[in-house]
Amino acid sequence: MRTVLPESIAPLSRLAKNLRWSWHRPTEQLFADLNPQAWETVHGDPVKLLGSLTREEIQQIADDPDMVRRIEELDADLDHYLGDALWYQQTQSPDGPRSIAYFSAEYGITSVLPQYSGGLGILAGDHLKSASDLGVPVVGVGLFYQHGYFKQSLSRDAWQQETYPVLDPDGMPLTLLREEDGTPARVTLPLPNGRSLSAQIWRADVGRVPLLLLDSDIADNDDHARNVTDRLYGGGGDHRLQQELLLGMGGVRALRVFSRLTGTPDPEVFHCNEGHAGFLGIERIAELMEPVDGTEPMTWEEALTAVRSATVFTTHTPVPAGIDRFERSQIEHFFNAGLAPSVPTANILALGTEDYDGGDRAKFNMAVMGLRLAQRANGVAKLHGKVSRDMFQGLWCGFDNDEVPIGSITNGVHVMTWIDPLVAELALDPQGSDLNRAARWRKVYDADDAQLWAVRRELRARLVRDVRARLRASWKKRGAADAELGWTDTVLDPDVLTIGFARRVPTYKRLTLMLRDPQRLKKILLDPERPVQLVVAGKSHPADEQGKRMIQDLVRFTDDPEVRHRIVFLPNYDIAMARTLFPGCDVWLNNPLRPLEACGTSGMKAALNGGLNLSVLDGWWDEMYDGQNGWAIPTADEGAHPDERDDIEASALYELIENHVAPRFYGEAADGSDPSTDGIPHQWLAMVKHTLATLGPRVSAKRMVEDYVRALYVPAAVSGRRAARDGYTGARTKSRWVGRVRQGWGQVAVEHVDAEGVEQEPQIGDEITVCAYVSLGSLTPEDVEAQVGYGRVSETDHIHERKYAGLTATEDLGGGRYKFCGAITIDRSGPFGYTVRVLPHHPLLADKAELGLVVNA
Ligand SMILES: *Cc1c(COP(=O)(O)O)cnc(C)c1O
Repeated sequence: MRTVLPESIAPLSRLAKNLRWSWHRPTEQLFADLNPQAWETVHGDPVKLLGSLTREEIQQIADDPDMVRRIEELDADLDHYLGDALWYQQTQSPDGPRSIAYFSAEYGITSVLPQYSGGLGILAGDHLKSASDLGVPVVGVGLFYQHGYFKQSLSRDAWQQETYPVLDPDGMPLTLLREEDGTPARVTLPLPNGRSLSAQIWRADVGRVPLLLLDSDIADNDDHARNVTDRLYGGGGDHRLQQELLLGMGGVRALRVFSRLTGTPDPEVFHCNEGHAGFLGIERIAELMEPVDGTEPMTWEEALTAVRSATVFTTHTPVPAGIDRFERSQIEHFFNAGLAPSVPTANILALGTEDYDGGDRAKFNMAVMGLRLAQRANGVAKLHGKVSRDMFQGLWCGFDNDEVPIGSITNGVHVMTWIDPLVAELALDPQGSDLNRAARWRKVYDADDAQLWAVRRELRARLVRDVRARLRASWKKRGAADAELGWTDTVLDPDVLTIGFARRVPTYKRLTLMLRDPQRLKKILLDPERPVQLVVAGKSHPADEQGKRMIQDLVRFTDDPEVRHRIVFLPNYDIAMARTLFPGCDVWLNNPLRPLEACGTSGMKAALNGGLNLSVLDGWWDEMYDGQNGWAIPTADEGAHPDERDDIEASALYELIENHVAPRFYGEAADGSDPSTDGIPHQWLAMVKHTLATLGPRVSAKRMVEDYVRALYVPAAVSGRRAARDGYTGARTKSRWVGRVRQGWGQVAVEHVDAEGVEQEPQIGDEITVCAYVSLGSLTPEDVEAQVGYGRVSETDHIHERKYAGLTATEDLGGGRYKFCGAITIDRSGPFGYTVRVLPHHPLLADKAELGLVVNA
């Protein structure tokens, strides 16, 4: 039964449905104040709260003029938020896309919509929230998983237990998308053996951004099909493949339905967040290849060209196990059933084939397909960009790492979701919404140390209270009686240096590195002068036995009565826990195997609350550590034996805590001189202020989304429009040109290179003219770009820090041969070298390496 609200408080249901309440504290506080007790019972879920109130309670609210006024004000505030011209409307030229589709397999927006497993999902949630705050016209697409991800608890002997609660979408902040006649809107995909897979579409509103979630749990489907969207990353093989077909292909169909029903413009840019949604490109190619009356259907090459031009692909992991790969036979099996009848299956297979050195040709790789279907691609931190360029270099043979067309945009976090209000009050200038501008964060420098220290203590004390409650609950689940659990009331101490470590538990994140030398860790925890306490959390993938063993090792250590008041493991790490955990920790620890952490965002959330990072120089920390905002754990050689590496890095970690982190926290000055006399660690707080003021604006997801808009969305929209103009003339012309270039490329050769003006003893500043004799076969000088690469020559005859200058065709030598010339200036001392190369050239190429074609002299 749905409660009907009296008119004076009717806006409550709208305020509950729009997820903006999850980062707009005044709205969240309103719901908490409606009935504080019920608010706790429903775990801070506004929709459930409204459903749980009795008629009398509702009437009481409606009769309370103060409440009615607050509701009216917040309703008006939401109107403003949804309708105002924001950054995007104010700054983006007409080139900006009218609509952008963002696809992700998971979304972590709030704990009341548990459709995420970890960082990838939370990043997607933060992306949508920041797009909303900036007014960027994004529409999100994902799946609705009936069980979400699993809930974690522990057995008596510390083994991870998984449960899968059933989620009722009707009791969640979701609205079913309906046709004009009221029937639920549907998308349907054909499956092998005459079966089919249909899905209904839930809509969540993330501020201004609609999020469409496809749900296969409907009566039209047979049991197998109903279960396709049962669990996030559940099952392997065909189950996972069907989830991804529904997400990508069904997702595009859902967008078309959404546009038809709501008048939202069709997306001009498609952003594929990690490989799971890659089939979205196939669906769009199929749309273009479908014969339509009156127009000439497009060929595969033409449709691929058009689709790529408007697609952005983001890769999120350098860990091979993190990339989805299917058997080729599975792909054939499903596509032969008529999923995309106009598209030859062989062409789809070719997109995902690992046809490069070290690849497995029997596999279909979703990241490889993602890269081939997107004209623009990026990694999620500077270092990760470089690692990705190495990892996928095989797709662009002949190019150096720094020329592989995968850029990077460093992840960010949604500030108003993750900053604690107490910190926000001290650190943020209340004027303006520009959380990614330094001016907004400078206020923290004016904060009084005693006041800041009191806030830090309050946040730590709040975490301690939360830990005690969670620990007791966990032990009761593990079978302990209340009488045995008195000790949990005194676990942790609100005045002790608190280090946090929480994340998923894949091997590379090394949950148990801290246990490398258990005696030394014990000594650190129990130090009588400068004690340390550790709060640890994390879920292991249900199929990952090794991860579960790590959790078990850690929990067994924490069970030891000697240390259990100083180290705890909290089961069921999720957004709700995270929002108390990040603010409560003084130090955030991260010790992955470098460079396997693509970005990592938890340390950013700690930084937003004045936590200092203690981390291996990986992911975001590699580019943002500055010597004043935390500590860098030195890493061993990547070539070292894994055991040796763990030893070296663990002992570096202990050393840092013992000699740097703990002394500073307990008031010692940077030079080791006198401890502070007023009980306030001023040097520590200087680091806290510096962290907030300098990292705050940089880790903001607003900065990230602005980067995406400028570097990827706008250029993709421009390319997409150029490809689509006049009945796809651009795409047709370019694809014809690509075909001609690929065909003729085998005959392109640099025959001979000459230099003029080279002195006996070249001096810095000398200009030399380089001329190359190039055979172009069937191609013309307009089809190519000839370049001279030059720089310092190493002992191995390699040119370092190479620069390129263009050469111009100066002479037609006949027979397809041309002379290209250009000048370069010697700009450094030492051995100097140069070489010539030829690349394809066309105005619709986004990057010179795009086609993976190059001929070197
Ligand atoms: C931020 C966050 C993550 C991701 O953390 P990483 O540092 O990227 O591993 C995972 N889970 C929750 C609940 C988070 O809040």
